[in-house]
Amino acid sequence: MLLPPFEFHEPLTIEDALELKKTLGENARLLAGGTDLLVHLKKKLITTKNLISLSRIKPLSLITREEDSVVIGACTTMAQLSSSPVIQEKFAAIKSGCDNLGTHLIRNRATIGGNACNASPAGDTLPALLIYDAMALLASSDTKREIPIANFFTGPGKSCLGPNEILTGFRLPIPGENSGAHYIQLGKRKSSEINVVNVASFLEYDPGTGKVITCRIALGSVAATPIRAGKAETALLGQTPEETAFFAAGEIARKEDCRPIDDFRGTAGYRQAMVGVLTKRTLATAYERAGGTSL
Ligand SMILES: Cc1cc2nc3c(=O)[nH]c(=O)nc-3n(C[C@H](O)[C@H](O)[C@H](O)COP(=O)(O)OP(=O)(O)OC[C@H]3O[C@@H](n4cnc5c(N)ncnc54)[C@H](O)[C@@H]3O)c2cc1C
Repeated sequence: MLLPPFEFHEPLTIEDALELKKTLGENARLLAGGTDLLVHLKKKLITTKNLISLSRIKPLSLITREEDSVVIGACTTMAQLSSSPVIQEKFAAIKSGCDNLGTHLIRNRATIGGNACNASPAGDTLPALLIYDAMALLASSDTKREIPIANFFTGPGKSCLGPNEILTGFRLPIPGENSGAHYIQLGKRKSSEINVVNVASFLEYDPGTGKVITCRIALGSVAATPIRAGKAETALLGQTPEETAFFAAGEIARKEDCRPIDDFRGTAGYRQAMVGVLTKRTLATAYERAGGTSL
């Protein structure tokens, strides 16, 4: 399968890329690692006359630590994220998401911005972005805006990105002490497979009372977009972090938060059951990583 012909543009700055996007409009597509886009072009699922590559814009591939947050450039690859000390130390669930995505070859090309803009409900880095309360950084030639990642996804393959906007990165607040997170994905094979269910959880407890003070749970592959399990999160707040509480949160996530469908990868019932199991497991490991007792 050959790629159809197109004009290739390689701007060196974000400003030049934004100007090109504005000029070429609907006749241009943004290219990051190409692991989704080039496949779609080859299969003729989409067509375009112009590709604007973002790969040579250096600031888009940086991981920058600021005072209370870390900014991840949209073109940072899975391999870069996985080997970054600050990601390993502070954002373990992002690292797990990156390590689970595709093969070594794919992880060397695939970017976190591309994963978000592709907006698959099953995307491997998306639940982690949700539980770390990431802000998506969007720019056009006229404006810049930051929106909570929870508002970024609008449907399968759809995001709130405007026609002339580029996703430049994500800002993630650095999690506090006594907090931890974990991500688990379940597919039919161990790698290079679209997830059947993927879950990430973040937990913070008060060392004085021992109670849960922050809880964020995100579910993938069980709704039209990756979603937060709001009811399960609320139920866990103020609870003592222990197996029965995690099991109860899993039950609520399973019964009340997810909206799975049947497809050839799994039935809705199986997906629901797995939401319960993975929610409980991710919460237990998140608590352990927060310094709590191993359950
Ligand atoms: C063999 C194989 C295995 C895979 N396995 C997995 C897996 O296990 N888990 C998983 O989640 N995904 C998987 N994928 C899908 C893909 O690798 C990921 O979604 C990847 O993160 C996409 O990033 P990219 O940089 O390659 O995006 P691209 O293909 O370059 O772009 C994807 C889309 O996002 C748009 N875009 C990219 N960057 C920006 C930006 N900064 N601003 C605005 N729009 C932008 C593009 O225009 C395009 O529409 C796999 C793909 C392949 C081919």
